[in-house]
Amino acid sequence: TKFTDFGLAQPLLKALADEGYTTPTPIQTQAIPGVMTGKDLLGIAQTGTGKTAAFALPILHRLAADRKPAPRRGCRVLVLSPTRELATQIGESFKAYGKHLGVSVAVVFGGVKYGGQMRALAGGVDVLVATPGRLIDHLGEKTITLGGVEIFVLDEADQMLDMGFILPIRRIVKYLPKERQNLFFSATMPTEIGKLAGELLNPNPLKVS
Ligand code: AMP
Repeated sequence: TKFTDFGLAQPLLKALADEGYTTPTPIQTQAIPGVMTGKDLLGIAQTGTGKTAAFALPILHRLAADRKPAPRRGCRVLVLSPTRELATQIGESFKAYGKHLGVSVAVVFGGVKYGGQMRALAGGVDVLVATPGRLIDHLGEKTITLGGVEIFVLDEADQMLDMGFILPIRRIVKYLPKERQNLFFSATMPTEIGKLAGELLNPNPLKVS
């Protein structure tokens, strides 16, 4: 399998060539076609498997296929990540793969001032990558709205559990539209995470591991 087999938008293939990627990893081969067509995904995958591109590429393809302005103070795609380092990395991946598409990306995490994050979000962004705690704070201050989210990604769900983020995640999900595409990733599937996946995902998600 090659990246050109998926029917990804040309600007994405160009970005992949810039990155020097030729061959998709197994999780990318399994995930990309289904996610491109709007299916929910349950992915059992560790970092290092090419997981980020497995969700970022089909998400960017969907944005490219249906261009519209992002909602003010909101986003079309929300990615939740447990740590600021991972959130930053995911944001950089979306920027790299989306560089010929003109997508806007913002990353929001705790431990820094609010002003810059508020300015970045003011006009709306296509993709928002956030850690749960700081996102909850923004939602409380109404500096971010999530009513326009079309695609929701929960990354490293088991790490979220270890860090005590399950309750914050359930609170965040209440702000999302009911009708949306969901991508759920975890390296392991303890009972609590299986239960959360069952709550968040639409029935019969595509399963990859
Ligand atoms: P991830 O599992 O998303 O953290 O990705 C692990 C690393 O593999 C990252 O540095 C990516 O840039 C790189 N990578 C992802 N997909 C591919 C691919 N198909 N070919 C080459 N490198 C890749």
